[in-house]
Amino acid sequence: MSRRPKTDSEPVPSGLRKERGTSSRQDDQPESSRAPRSESETPASVDGVTRYKIDLDDGRIDSDAAKVVRRLTRHGYEAYLVGGCVRDLLLDHEPKDFDVCTDARPEDVRALFRNSRIIGRRFRLAHVLFGGGKVIETATFRRNPDENRDGDDMPIRSDNVFGDADEDALRRDFTINALFYDLETNEVLDWVGGMPDLKARRMHTIGIPQVRFHEDPVRMLRAIKFCARLDVGMSPEVYNAIVQCRDTLEMAAKPRLFEELLRFLRGGAAARSFYLAWELGILDVLLPELAMYLSDTEDDAVWRLLDEVDQLTYERGQALSDITLWTVLLLAPTLEACDGCRDRVSAGYEFMEPIAARLRVPRRISDGVRRIVAVLPRLNSGRPGRVAKTPIYECANEVLEITRAAKVSLGEHRPPPSRRRRRKPSDGTES
Ligand code: ATP
Ligand code: MG
Repeated sequence: MSRRPKTDSEPVPSGLRKERGTSSRQDDQPESSRAPRSESETPASVDGVTRYKIDLDDGRIDSDAAKVVRRLTRHGYEAYLVGGCVRDLLLDHEPKDFDVCTDARPEDVRALFRNSRIIGRRFRLAHVLFGGGKVIETATFRRNPDENRDGDDMPIRSDNVFGDADEDALRRDFTINALFYDLETNEVLDWVGGMPDLKARRMHTIGIPQVRFHEDPVRMLRAIKFCARLDVGMSPEVYNAIVQCRDTLEMAAKPRLFEELLRFLRGGAAARSFYLAWELGILDVLLPELAMYLSDTEDDAVWRLLDEVDQLTYERGQALSDITLWTVLLLAPTLEACDGCRDRVSAGYEFMEPIAARLRVPRRISDGVRRIVAVLPRLNSGRPGRVAKTPIYECANEVLEITRAAKVSLGEHRPPPSRRRRRKPSDGTES
């Protein structure tokens, strides 16, 4: 992973500290007419934290997460709902999952909940397990290792460093992701100016964006994902920093890059996510094959296909299969690469290979993509043949359904050479 580059202009720890306790961007932010939830009182700021009295609807809070928080507080620990669930509740979105943070150490949590286990080696945290496979991630407050008090130069990937609630807020990526909700007092606790940003629907990093993206380049993809999914605007500072730092994505762990792109595809805002990624030049780094196709062609097939994916995801209320998603994403440039090739499987292989290596795409998916692209024209002409008996048939049909809805042409189906009948030369000349 990347180490934070040491330059005079990027004083990392102070970059974070500078904003502690201040709602950093209130001055330059237009107040939005779309406030997340009504607040019953004027917020109170004491010791760097601003408390907003907000009664979130109990019915929208996961009862098991609430159980975890309440048991921890009953036993004298500090505990809050945190991160994505607070953000989503305030924006009236359905949270994907509920996370808890606390000053209890993982082993304290383990002792309080028999239905829990400690996971992680670098960052030890507790999973409290409930019926139906539900997991409430319960993490001990941590601070950013870069903020270590001895002033040592530590890489970002150093060990668990437990901290206080305010430090835990500061180590997070974006202001809107760093809000805590206190179930005892019905208050949102804000150390980073997340509430004003949420009200203005603006995405800001905590601290200097260039610094935070150098620490962890995957945050750039997270910024795109949240902006696209939550219809939040990217602040000009974040936008410019991504353009400046995008090449550092080459240093990020490949499986994380793959995972984040998959989240773009799964989240119901695939078209918006990839458009933003293209506009920001991220696709030039991660998927140059797709970026080149988009720049070279007037056709908007890629966007029509991704729109259909979003529509179908919305209708089904769940993400499509990973193989379908990757096939649809890469379909237009792969079809172009296979165009006119007799051996579409090999052409698809050549096209997919560098992508699979760059993003460590699991074999199951890369094989699926090129096999589906190879058989699509045949399926389209209503002659599935042996494909109907293979495991990719279902995904291939789904892709076909999407291409038809998006009105994307698949090219003509030509029978494979081995099956083509050759006329015998009758008079000594080849026909
Ligand atoms: P989602 O709805 O996609 O789950 P989320 O905000 O909950 O969104 P998670 O990936 O589940 O995202 O992470 C939980 C929280 O952990 C985030 O809200 C953020 O505060 C923090 N976090 C996650 N990844 C990072 C990161 N790379 N750097 C800093 N903080 C992070
Ligand atoms: Mg989450």
